[in-house]
Amino acid sequence: MNKTADEKVLQQPHNHQHCMTQALQSAEKICTDKGVRLTAIRKRILELICSSHKAIGAYELLDLFRKEDMKAKPVTIYRALDFLMEAGLVHKIESLNAFIGCLQAETQHQSVILICDNCKNAFELDASSVYKTIFAMSKEKQFTPTTLTIELHGLCDSCS
Ligand SMILES: [Zn+2]
Ligand SMILES: [Zn+2]
Ligand SMILES: [Zn+2]
Repeated sequence: MNKTADEKVLQQPHNHQHCMTQALQSAEKICTDKGVRLTAIRKRILELICSSHKAIGAYELLDLFRKEDMKAKPVTIYRALDFLMEAGLVHKIESLNAFIGCLQAETQHQSVILICDNCKNAFELDASSVYKTIFAMSKEKQFTPTTLTIELHGLCDSCS
């Protein structure tokens, strides 16, 4: 997904069905390429996460999922989330301990996650150059970086 599409997603309202289709198509493709199975549970959890752009917590997901599968346990959700994160289909928002679906999972990207504190919608902004700069700066200090997540809190267009 290109930058123009990202900007469209940032605008509300937009055709969200397109976002859902994009996420599910990426999931099918990534799983096929990796030779792993997108089980019904994994797919359903991804659909639930991608049903909106709001960050959703694991227990909120469990509540939704239990409406369809009474026997679902937290571990069911955590296993599916681990799989989806590993595949790059879902990102964790550390500051909210919640998750969002990725709309550009097939493309290499390093995003700043923009989080609206009012409506909880969260969007990715590709900022690979920012990450590159920070990694380079840390290396200058003889520090070996592994992971970095930048989360920017604020207000989205419709809430500001
Ligand atoms: Zn959308
Ligand atoms: Zn992403
Ligand atoms: Zn908002």
